[in-house]
Amino acid sequence: MRVVFLGPPGAGKGTQAVRLAAARGIPHISTGNMLREAAASGSAIGREAKGYMDRGTLVPDEVVIRAVEERLSRPDAAAGFLLDGYPRTVPQAQALDAVLARARARLDRVYYFATPEDVVVRRLSGRRTCSNKSCAAVYHLQTLRPKKQGVCDTCGSPLEGRADDDEERVKTRLSVYHKQTTPLIAYYQRQGTLKPVEGAMDIEPLLAVIQADLATVGEKAHA
Ligand code: AMP
Repeated sequence: MRVVFLGPPGAGKGTQAVRLAAARGIPHISTGNMLREAAASGSAIGREAKGYMDRGTLVPDEVVIRAVEERLSRPDAAAGFLLDGYPRTVPQAQALDAVLARARARLDRVYYFATPEDVVVRRLSGRRTCSNKSCAAVYHLQTLRPKKQGVCDTCGSPLEGRADDDEERVKTRLSVYHKQTTPLIAYYQRQGTLKPVEGAMDIEPLLAVIQADLATVGEKAHA
């Protein structure tokens, strides 16, 4: 099963991706998490990416495309994957198509998390993430609290607000999303893989909608 999650920051893609990937046994590949981990480790890619991430703009295509191609070439992604936050530009989508064509594979679904701007802003301002970048679990002050305040349920590390979730950078990230990422909605509509879902829905009902839809994709593939 090869799935992409597309949508604005704060649409709930990461929250759903963790759950869906675990349920389906496929790797959750978040370019945001990969880049934050690289930045924290001080690697060459991380150093290159950090300035863009701190400003809330996109890391250059060639850097992200290279990182994703390396990740997709690992054995655990051979039978399927869930890409969260990638592609974000038309050249990234074209690069992904080229990788899939070489592997004689195709995307099963691109879920587009259509989400009103007020919901996005509310979600981002209450978001807390695990400070351990290789865990990267996500919480929310009102809607998704950890069992113990300020501590990650999964790994026990302290939680923190994301630096790029402040008001100024949220504005930048939303405007970058509108300019550079929304053309992908038409791109995948043309490919016939786009499936809009409501990002404003609660976590469990939305997960059920996606799971039910994926079951129909699986049926068609085996028909
Ligand atoms: P996210 O965690 O998906 O909100 O991503 C955080 C930041 O990482 C973004 O604001 C970008 O600077 C960078 N980033 C993540 N994914 C991509 C991508 N596909 N293309 C370019 N930059 C990205």
